[in-house]
Amino acid sequence: MYWNYTQPVDIIFGNGKISELKNLLSAYKNPLLVGDPFFKTNGLIDKIKNITEIKYVFTNVSPNPDVTEVDRCSRLIRENNIDVLVALGGGSALDLAKASSIAAESIEPYHNGEKTVSDGHLPLIAVPTTAGTGSEVTCVSVLTNRQTGRKAPIVSESFYPKAALIDPELLCSLPPAVTASTGIDVLCHAVEGYWSKGHQPICDALAIHSIKLVFEYLPIAYKEPENKIAREKMAEASVVAGLAFTLPKTTSSHACSFPLTSLYHIPHGEACGLTLDYFARVNSYDEHTRQLIKELGYDSADSFADDIFKLKKSIGLRLGISDLKLNDDDISQLVKLSHHPNMNNNPVEITDEILTGMYRQLRNL
Ligand code: NAD
Repeated sequence: MYWNYTQPVDIIFGNGKISELKNLLSAYKNPLLVGDPFFKTNGLIDKIKNITEIKYVFTNVSPNPDVTEVDRCSRLIRENNIDVLVALGGGSALDLAKASSIAAESIEPYHNGEKTVSDGHLPLIAVPTTAGTGSEVTCVSVLTNRQTGRKAPIVSESFYPKAALIDPELLCSLPPAVTASTGIDVLCHAVEGYWSKGHQPICDALAIHSIKLVFEYLPIAYKEPENKIAREKMAEASVVAGLAFTLPKTTSSHACSFPLTSLYHIPHGEACGLTLDYFARVNSYDEHTRQLIKELGYDSADSFADDIFKLKKSIGLRLGISDLKLNDDDISQLVKLSHHPNMNNNPVEITDEILTGMYRQLRNL
């Protein structure tokens, strides 16, 4: 087996660590804060402006950010000689900031693969406020083009943030539904990173650590939003899962999530989690996946898959798609669009027949 491991992001972790932002910015003259709009209403953006003297703020960030939002942010960067970005929010704010760091006239050619991202764009300090995407330690920016309905990642080695400032206290304001959806995303990252064709020993160990934390602490964070221990452990699970998948890359559940989100607006994490237990059974044909199941203490793929299902149920996540009232043509379209490149990282070949069977089963739940 041949493998490399690189992790270029400085990680600063702990309750109250947001106060270190001023020091992190001391080397720069003109920062821009790209923030989720929620933090305008709860006062955190004003607080950060006071402690850091940040002058410029961009808050036109929507969940699953659109390419036009990136273009607006990029214009603000070009017009104001911004020299560093601070991204405050969930994966949406972080990914929008990553893509905007290029300061391109239009991000579209990068999103559709006509252009590749080169070094030399602005540095980014990522402050995640969901325990979900791990975007603070990944080199990925996921964007949506609402005009074409296409949701896809831009991947570039140069997209790694300079620093990840992880303050678990910022998660306490997350509503239970967002805690649940983002938390199941963490589980998908860890499980998919492990069984990905690109797996390697360091990421495997990180994945197992993260999976155990999610099963233990996600139900607590969901039921007790202000439970600081559960929030801290989920923040840890999230960043560790980010490290577990950014090199091996995600697989089948993420591939299926893209059309489920862009066509049916299912939140990202919930869309990934929807198919995870199904793929846990399918992937048990793979020996490395069977090793994961054993390492986690399960005696079969079925018992692992059943536990994923129970976890989803206990935190109010959707278990099927019967409410969408899909006909066979809709299912065919989902099958076609689920063949996203991430599907090629799955350890077992996923055929149209497997996908059709899965979506038909989910249609009845
Ligand atoms: P999000 O950033 O879209 O946020 C979800 C909701 O939570 C929003 O309404 C936001 O306003 C709110 N919110 C965020 N933090 C909050 C807080 N602390 N308190 C109260 N409300 C808060 O959700 P997400 O799941 O973190 O990000 C999803 C996006 O990230 C998707 O586009 C997904 O494809 C992408 N993603 C990126 C990577 C990566 O490596 N870059 C990996 C996985 C997913």
